[in-house]
Order: sequence, then C-alpha cells, then structure tokens
Amino acid sequence: MADRQLRRAVFLDRDGTICEEVGYLNHISRLHIYPFAPAAIRRLNDAGFPVVVVTNQSGAGRGFFPESLIAEVHDRIRRELTVSGAHIDAFYACPHRSEDGCDCRKPRIGMLERAASEHSIALPGSWVVGDRQADVGLAHNAGARSIFVLTGYGRGEYEWHSREWPYPPDFVAEDLGAAVDTILSHEAGGRNANEPVHRPAMTPGDAR
Ligand SMILES: [Mg+2]
Ligand SMILES: [Zn+2]
Repeated sequence: MADRQLRRAVFLDRDGTICEEVGYLNHISRLHIYPFAPAAIRRLNDAGFPVVVVTNQSGAGRGFFPESLIAEVHDRIRRELTVSGAHIDAFYACPHRSEDGCDCRKPRIGMLERAASEHSIALPGSWVVGDRQADVGLAHNAGARSIFVLTGYGRGEYEWHSREWPYPPDFVAEDLGAAVDTILSHEAGGRNANEPVHRPAMTPGDAR
C-alpha cells in the first residue's frame, strides 16, 4: 500500500462551540446549534479541511443520560448542517468521568489519535477550536494549534481563569465564525504552520 497522504484537520469542540452550552445536554430538545456555525463549518469544508468533532460527555458515564443520546444529538447536528451544505467528517465522544482515568477525556488526546489513524490526519499543524481550557490543553498535548472561543463557557473561563493557565491558547476568537476567519487567513498567509500570527496577551481586558 502506498503512503497515505496525511491531511491537517480542524477539530471542533461541540457544546459551547457548535451548539449552545446548556450544562449537560441531557435531552435532544436542548440542542440549539449556533446560527453562525453551519456557514463557518461549510467554509472549512470548502477549504478542504476534514472537520472532526471531539466532545467530552461525562454525563453519560454519570448516568445523567443514556450513551445513545450522544449519537442521537450527532445525527441531528449532521442533518441540520446538511441543510446548510455543511458537513462534519467524524464525531468522537468520550462518555467517561474524569475519575475513570480513560485516555480519551480531553485534554487527553485519545480521540485525536483515533481520528488521526481512522482519517489519515496529521495532528501537528491541525487546529483545535473550543471554549474550555481542556480544549487548549488538548491542542497543546497533541502538538496542534488552539483557538479559544468566547462562546459557551469561554468568556468566563478566559476572564476569570486564563491568568492561571500553564500556557495560553494560540489564538482567541469571539466565536466559531471568527475562529474560521483566523484559520483561513493564517493558512492563506503561507506562514510556518506552527508560528502563530497573534499570541494574545493573557489579560482579561483583551477578551472583550
Ligand atoms: Mg465546550
Ligand atoms: Zn474517555
């Protein structure tokens, strides 16, 4: 078999990034996709990036909802995106609790490693977009680039806690649409894949 061509991907957190963060999304009726998300994802599709969702869903492991709900939510997201001509290439979910010590709960990189092997993705140079510090940690641990979005838990985490983080995100963006602007302009600039164009100052005022 010839060498497979590895592609760089955009990994998206789900809750607070693609759809509203509602605490535990414990029923399909609580799924509300952000209005800007389908167009943002479609732009990534058009640019040729594999788009992969990686989501921690410990509510399943805690018994708050059946694990089958995760697939139901992802089917609904897939259908709603299709209407807008956007698609997600793959969904990965960690149903475990932090005390389970699994290898897939973000910021551990099990889901990214699985995606890399199942979809011929190179993690270095790939992007991770999310609204929690775990998403920044995930990117850091995988050697990928991070964009922290201020939707969901993002604004609060950034304002109240970012000064304590061991390392900053590579970029901060208002929402997924702005994150995609950052990705596409960075790619278009032809810069070194691992050189951020803007490293945000870690002060709360910059989040506004
Ligand atoms: Mg999130
Ligand atoms: Zn897990």
